[in-house]
Amino acid sequence: MTGPILPGATLGVIGGGQLGRMFTLAARRMGYRVTVLAPEDDTPAGQIAYQEIRAPYEDLDAVRRFASSVSVVTFEFENVPAETAVAASERAPVRPAGSLLHTTQHRRREKEALRAAGIPTVPFGAVESEAELIAAVAAVGTPAILKTAAWGYDGKGQIRLSRGSEALAAWESLGRAPAVLEAVAPFEREISVVGARGIDGAVALYDPVENTHVQHILDLSVAPAELPPGVATRAREIARTLLETWDVVGVICVEMFLMPDGELVVNEVAPRPHNSGHLTIDAHVSSQFEQQVRAVCGLPLGSTAAVAPAAMANLLGDLWQGGEPDWAAALATPGVALHLYGKVEARPGRKMGHLTALGSTAAQARDRVLQARAAAARLPLRAQEA
Ligand code: ADP
Ligand code: MG
Repeated sequence: MTGPILPGATLGVIGGGQLGRMFTLAARRMGYRVTVLAPEDDTPAGQIAYQEIRAPYEDLDAVRRFASSVSVVTFEFENVPAETAVAASERAPVRPAGSLLHTTQHRRREKEALRAAGIPTVPFGAVESEAELIAAVAAVGTPAILKTAAWGYDGKGQIRLSRGSEALAAWESLGRAPAVLEAVAPFEREISVVGARGIDGAVALYDPVENTHVQHILDLSVAPAELPPGVATRAREIARTLLETWDVVGVICVEMFLMPDGELVVNEVAPRPHNSGHLTIDAHVSSQFEQQVRAVCGLPLGSTAAVAPAAMANLLGDLWQGGEPDWAAALATPGVALHLYGKVEARPGRKMGHLTALGSTAAQARDRVLQARAAAARLPLRAQEA
């Protein structure tokens, strides 16, 4: 093995979104340059990168040129075609490896890999034909969620079924794309664990974060999650098992459901930093993005210790409906930090930024971040949020 990739080197990121932007910020703070490859211009990551290369991920010559110009390639987006990762790996190390992308970008492969690692998932059936759809409905029952196997994010490509008779029409509306049918998990809480693994096999895990989704999109994350005894340890063990079994070099996030019997089942795994880990920027000694830099550069991993309890609230495009949100009002809340991703067009459901608040307790951090977001929206706090 050669030595670590040191500050001054140029790191390559495939994907131009906010995760690439926050990776770039962490890398630049440490003295690296970053080149971004994305199919658009003026991307959130490209805006602050050293260089932004505009090319479709399928343009393998451009991918090879990009990889030739950097010391290591990582990604901020898992829906990168397998051939793209292979082409990049001809010119530079790709971390994490393309095989992790291949597994996690497809829900059936991901669930099979989880099971092979001995990790529980929700009951599911693979759906690639009408016969499989019928078999999956019989095996999984209802209510259930039909999800496209590929390309899903923020709840896109998901349809909830109350009755088996709705299954065929639902699958038709997904264009009969390969899918999985999952039982609806009657979970008590959703949590996630972000973890990193270095080239030397060292593992660093953050404590579990509690997540609340609205319309299948992450709305709020609170750290540390308040959990029954033993659950946090088990959640961290699951993340460690996956980092080690899948031989990850980089950062992953494991989304889990805490079931009424106290068991944890894994919902999905992101092969990169995750929205629920954004609060590590303000609330932890080393952020999830700094860990990604350290891991892919072959440096020692940083401390995952929390500086303070924290909460993160997403800022979706909906917040812009009445014009630019009132940032001064949001920032008047004590302990609040504003993160905006440089996106010009505020579409409903689009992740435009987030707020993080620190507090002396997780409950105080949560109250503060909700208060700040309501102030940005020029709204009084809704009763259920107060
Ligand atoms: P995405 O790739 O869009 O994040 P997820 O599978 O994580 O897709 O689904 C988004 C959210 O929808 C989850 O965080 C959870 O709140 C809800 N959800 C997804 N699958 C299930 C399920 N099987 N049972 C109950 N809720 C689910
Ligand atoms: Mg998810």
